[in-house]
Amino acid sequence: MLIECKRCAAIVEAPELYAYDAYDERDGLPERWTFAKCPRCASPLLAVQCDYGNGFEEDIPTRVFPARDRQLGASVPRSIRVAFDEATVCFRAKAYTASAIMCRKTLEGLCAEHEVKECNLSASLKKLKDLGVIEIRLFEWAEALRTLGNEAAHGVTSVISPQDAKDILGFTEAISEYLFTYKDQFERFKKRRAESSKD
Ligand SMILES: [Zn+2]
Repeated sequence: MLIECKRCAAIVEAPELYAYDAYDERDGLPERWTFAKCPRCASPLLAVQCDYGNGFEEDIPTRVFPARDRQLGASVPRSIRVAFDEATVCFRAKAYTASAIMCRKTLEGLCAEHEVKECNLSASLKKLKDLGVIEIRLFEWAEALRTLGNEAAHGVTSVISPQDAKDILGFTEAISEYLFTYKDQFERFKKRRAESSKD
């Protein structure tokens, strides 16, 4: 199984020691839990994959132990989680410019998921703001991310500092969680409240 070893800070091909498929419809999708061992440092690794309808192999394993530093919630679309995961992997590998570029890609994914595909990212973000999907503060964060991501991607001499890379990662995480996790959660909350007030 290809998985990131925390101690090695690298993606490794870890031999699987034991795998167990678990499914309880009350908990959602079928899951495959895999216990593996890092081939380099022998650290234990526990990962979970979900079956979204095309088998477990289609899902990138999510490491559960050792716990990941940052991880987006399950409500965030997979393409966005994958881009953000790569940004965090780059950050831990001290590849700060690459991390900023992946955060910019995550932002592009956020626009695409809302079916906003303007001629460039700047116009797409403005459209999200005009549609009321993001508020002014989030729009400002997103604009700052976009600008730094642009510098990272196009300025050959530009170097992103570790602090900037960390902030970019934090903003990207906050925007993604806001748009998917908390919005959904709030809608469910409102629905529950409306239903219980009918009684
Ligand atoms: Zn390792």
